[in-house]
Amino acid sequence: MYKKISLVDKDIEELINLENIRQENNIELIASENYVSEDVLKAAGSCLTNKYGEGYPNKRYYGGCENVDKIEIIAQERACQLFKMKYANVQPYSGSVANAAIFMSLLNPGDKVLGLALDSGGHLSHGYKISFSGKFYNSYSYSVNENGILDYDQILKIAMEVKPKMIICGYSAYSQIVEFDKFKNIADKVGAYLFADISHISGLIIAGIHPSPSKYADVVMTTTHKTLRGTRGAIIMTNNEDIAKKIDKCVFPGYQGGPLFHQIAAKAVSFYEALQPEFVEYQKQIVNNANAFCNRFIEKGVKVISGLTKNHLFIIDVKTSYSLTGKEANDILASLNITVNKNTIPFDTESPLISSGIRLGTPAMTSRGFSETEFIILADLIDKALSNPKDIKLHELIKKEVSKLTSSFPIKRNYLVK
Ligand SMILES: *Cc1c(COP(=O)(O)O)cnc(C)c1O
Repeated sequence: MYKKISLVDKDIEELINLENIRQENNIELIASENYVSEDVLKAAGSCLTNKYGEGYPNKRYYGGCENVDKIEIIAQERACQLFKMKYANVQPYSGSVANAAIFMSLLNPGDKVLGLALDSGGHLSHGYKISFSGKFYNSYSYSVNENGILDYDQILKIAMEVKPKMIICGYSAYSQIVEFDKFKNIADKVGAYLFADISHISGLIIAGIHPSPSKYADVVMTTTHKTLRGTRGAIIMTNNEDIAKKIDKCVFPGYQGGPLFHQIAAKAVSFYEALQPEFVEYQKQIVNNANAFCNRFIEKGVKVISGLTKNHLFIIDVKTSYSLTGKEANDILASLNITVNKNTIPFDTESPLISSGIRLGTPAMTSRGFSETEFIILADLIDKALSNPKDIKLHELIKKEVSKLTSSFPIKRNYLVK
């Protein structure tokens, strides 16, 4: 468990400590969440939050940047080393803002972009109507096929028709491998930029257990807080010097003001951790766990979108499997201290707020030390709960089992031996 904090402001002190207890007592299956080390927390909570430094290392609009310059350079170097890319911008406040800066650097307003549809597992910022990406750009989408899998011939066909200026690959809810080489072929055929958004799978890519886009994509973006297990934020990378210059300009002053140096330092600390051999083992375990977890559901006859997982997450069709909506399944599991998120399934007839699926991910509980054994137990508990949505007595028993699991696997403070 993280250390309890003490503040003069008792309102916020209490809520942070309650949240700490909630995180400790809940089984966390949201695929985009994780538990950072206490070193990452220390950097994120450091005096660096006081510092202003618009601009880039050695080219700032403010004085007193001698320390933060060095921190930002270390973060850039580690990012390049981790992803085998030449240029890194480590300032983006979040993945969505990073994506806005990428759009701005490669496109003009109104230009055509092609991304995966939201209900197929794409992200809001990949062209969805209510996001900047669908409002200020002319956005088109491809979908997964009826088996929940990307069909690259179909994507090529759509790309030939649409002739987008940029194609986006890399997703939020897709359990198969993204074949960046195939996307590169498609992008080349239609003369489009290729943008790989590896927010979810960046940890797997670092560990070499998912193909890397570094040789294929014009631009790569990852959030730093998902499988990468760092602080909240994002980084943008490229191998092209001209694109790198444009990206720097579009991050600042295009979309952002002063960099958050506490976050940049915390990113650097998580990159340090990701460069260690323990990180590779961790990522392998995430994937092994997801595989065991998913297969247990399949053994029970549960419908998994695309039929399997090859990464850290998968989507269950709870409507077909349990006659529940995603929202209902989410609420039942929440009452048992199991945190998931409802998720649309391909060609969902429910709205995103209701949906017909739930998304399950293994990164967070793998950080707490769960192995295949615990994930199989957990699949059985979830399956029992969703098969008997009204059995209060059974739910009480399941809640006790959940509590046994969380107390046996407390949140770790460190992932490396000091
Ligand atoms: C999480 C995610 C983002 C956005 O990250 P935020 O930091 O929440 O803005 C962008 N793209 C993909 C594919 C993601 O999964």
